[in-house]
Amino acid sequence: MKILITGAAGFIGSHLCDVLLDSGHYIYAMDNFITGSPDNIAHLTGNNNFTFILHDVSNFIVMPEKVDAVLHFASPASPNPDSPYGFPNLPIQTMKAGALGTHNTLGVARAFGARYILASTSEIYGDPVEHPQKETYWGNVDPIGLRSVYDEAKRFAEALTMAYHRYHDINTGIVRIFNTYGPRMRLDDGRAIPNFLLQAIKKESLTVYGNGYQTRSFCYVDDLVDGIIRLLNSDIHEPVNIGNPQEITINELAKTINQIFDNQAGVVHLKNKVAGKDPYRRQPDITRAKEMLGWNPTIDLIEGLDRTIPYFKQKIKQEGN
Ligand code: NAD
Ligand code: UDP
Repeated sequence: MKILITGAAGFIGSHLCDVLLDSGHYIYAMDNFITGSPDNIAHLTGNNNFTFILHDVSNFIVMPEKVDAVLHFASPASPNPDSPYGFPNLPIQTMKAGALGTHNTLGVARAFGARYILASTSEIYGDPVEHPQKETYWGNVDPIGLRSVYDEAKRFAEALTMAYHRYHDINTGIVRIFNTYGPRMRLDDGRAIPNFLLQAIKKESLTVYGNGYQTRSFCYVDDLVDGIIRLLNSDIHEPVNIGNPQEITINELAKTINQIFDNQAGVVHLKNKVAGKDPYRRQPDITRAKEMLGWNPTIDLIEGLDRTIPYFKQKIKQEGN
């Protein structure tokens, strides 16, 4: 297949490029580097099946040729206002990537009759009152809070995707991604795992926001990519949660990472810095992914961290931190 991947120079997008190229597909990789990095795709330059297109998806997209699939992954993704890459510091760009970018990429899918996959998020459930979160849950979202630029853009993107499916009969799919981690995450994007790994490597205290009893369920990137590709190869139109249901508190995550590094500096509890209301509990119900895609995550947190740490160590060395 010929596939357009937007956000291809980002963390998840670059892994999608790797796996889809390995399976023999041709990739048009689109990015404007607002939160991604050329480093993430540098190893692909020279690959005859790979073309990079520098473009902001908020603007009309002209493809050089017909594509068979479009994967729309372009969007800032970190909620941390302390990072220049966090969406609270890129509010308009975030809304445009989710709204205009989704419209433009759906337009490409419509022009070529391509399969379309939207990267949505567990954030569309907001601060959920249903636990774990099933795809049938409608969410509990603040429409004007600091997280709203991301949450509401993704909710709009889902609605627009379903409108294109119903009205234009486009073969669309929606993946609701829960917290994912792995190599090529930005060291400085302010998300929990990069922050904790950086701090533990430097033997500093890990910065736990609030009391640390809030939970997340962390999925290793290879498992996520496997789920996305299964969805791509299906004709499923309903949203599908992809995430690892192994739920832990942020305190437990910090303790686990400190133990791996034998970091005696412990944790420091800081006033919650994350934009808006920090969702208190988050865990995917993955029944739909299991039944419809035959998907199940296979990499637990310890193994996933083990695979991620060498990348962080190498990057720190490279950047001379
Ligand atoms: P990332 O920041 O590493 O990647 C996003 C990429 O999109 C970057 O390379 C960025 O430069 C690019 N981009 C942003 N706006 C653009 C625009 N207007 N035009 C062109 N390119 C643009 O983030 P990520 O973690 O890889 O996230 C990728 C996608 O997955 C996002 O849509 C995000 O919302 C979604 N997602 C990620 C997670 C996670 O845990 N990582 C969870 C839920 C959803
Ligand atoms: N968090 C933290 N310390 C940090 C970064 C994040 O305690 O240095 C917390 C954050 O408040 C949230 C959880 O870790 O409760 C996950 O945050 P992340 O930014 O990774 O993603 P989110 O799930 O909030 O989008």
